[in-house]
Amino acid sequence: MTATRVPGVPEIEDGVLISTNPATGEEAGRVPVADAGAVAAAVARAREAALWWQGLGFTGRKERLVRWRTLVSRRIEELARVTRLETGKPEADAIVEAVGAIEHLDWAAHHAKAVLGPRRTRTRLLTAEHVGHLEYQPYGVVGVIGPWNYPILTPIGPISSALAAGNVVVFKPSEYTPVVGQWLADTFAEVVPEQPVLQVVHGLGDVGGALCRSGVGKVAFTGSTATAKKVMAACAENLVPVVIEAGGKDALIVDADADVPAAAEAAVWGSMTNAGQTCIGIERAYVVAPVYDRFVAAVVEKAGRLRTGHEIGPITMPRQIDIIRDHIDDALAKGGRAVLGGAGAVQPPYVAPTVLVDVPADSSEIRDETFGPTLTITKVADADEALRQANDTSYGLGGAVFGKANAVRIARRLRSGMVAVNGTLTFVGMGNLPFGGVGDSGFGRIHGEDGLREFARAKAITVRRGPSMLPAMTFERTPAQVARIVKAVRLLYGRGRA
Ligand code: NAD
Repeated sequence: MTATRVPGVPEIEDGVLISTNPATGEEAGRVPVADAGAVAAAVARAREAALWWQGLGFTGRKERLVRWRTLVSRRIEELARVTRLETGKPEADAIVEAVGAIEHLDWAAHHAKAVLGPRRTRTRLLTAEHVGHLEYQPYGVVGVIGPWNYPILTPIGPISSALAAGNVVVFKPSEYTPVVGQWLADTFAEVVPEQPVLQVVHGLGDVGGALCRSGVGKVAFTGSTATAKKVMAACAENLVPVVIEAGGKDALIVDADADVPAAAEAAVWGSMTNAGQTCIGIERAYVVAPVYDRFVAAVVEKAGRLRTGHEIGPITMPRQIDIIRDHIDDALAKGGRAVLGGAGAVQPPYVAPTVLVDVPADSSEIRDETFGPTLTITKVADADEALRQANDTSYGLGGAVFGKANAVRIARRLRSGMVAVNGTLTFVGMGNLPFGGVGDSGFGRIHGEDGLREFARAKAITVRRGPSMLPAMTFERTPAQVARIVKAVRLLYGRGRA
């Protein structure tokens, strides 16, 4: 018989982490907790495995990664069930999440060679006697630290790029979703049984800290901005480079020529999917005056149909409930109005869809990451005003624009790493687009070509193919040769308007 525990609170008993369902308290599974010694041992094993994995080359690794993709695709429903059990999210949402992960796995596997493989560079006239070669070499062992909200998609982004680039990975999943993390490593080991190419180490934040200090070549962190700073501080001790995928406060802008029902539907999906626990979730909408009333009515009508326990799952992390409640209370206390949900919406472990209007810009509901199924809608005069308010945040992860004539121009001016035009969150599902933010949302990129390059170091090699016509880099050059170099530079670069 499985014991019923405090919903959603990971417990550690005798070196074992016990994961529970946040809605029911049902036990989701048990995993061993690592200590600093165990992390060091995993990294030592990984170093050995890295030599073997690199030896497979791009083609051998592609073949293994494609097999893992196939296995995950075949067992997608099993993965979704494990994810639902551990996070409480609806199974359909877990399927959508897994589909995104499969897309990135497939893309990274198929494109790593073209993006990172050796190539010759074009000859430069002043150094024409040398041929340039460029290639991207793996770091060796990459540490991946993940969050709980998308426990399949968020780690598989960096894991698939890191592996395709020739690294091996030691992965520290969130203490709220260790079972999903273990599932990923176990299924990978089914297709790559020879060496520990993808290992997991479990535990709380201290295990993540130990991973940062374990001698890994790079760390890919996804989680909150506050933890990101601790990760950077730990990595700074040994100059370990990091990719930071942190929080957000994403905005949706609705212009006058937008398809209003489509914008409302996207706003509801973007803000309420996964009960709003989405780093790229829409938390604020800025809507131009002519379409404001229609937009608010459509959002209220659509969001009002969502039911907690069905489309809206529980809040996975119990202490987040207090933050959501504080944000709603602060918005209402400062003069905001709830047109759906509101003060009574918080009924742990659930929060009912809440739509707030007239919320002042200094409210925490506008300024800080809420991470719940809430949406503020603010009326603005025009797109310029929408952009000014949308960009008035320290975060800058994703965003969305609905409109026709100016939508792409508006999208370019949104201060963020990604924007969906006439959609929401779509950029996360495209294997060939980079993903990442600016400001407090982090730096570096996962996914796509930039994501692959993030997990490899550029290596430049020059090879002499003949004697130098313009020998600059030698003490044996003559004054006549220097004069020739000056002449050549003037000819090449000294013409035209200065
Ligand atoms: P979190 O920062 O609390 O934890 C993330 C991970 O860091 C966990 O595995 C945790 O154990 C580990 N950790 C905690 N302290 C650590 C330390 N001192 N050193 C090293 N590791 C440590 O975040 P969370 O609550 O799991 O996730 C939610 C947050 O993640 C939200 O802010 C959300 O916006 C963000 N997020 C961002 C993205 C993105 O791609 N930008 C994606 C998903 C979630």
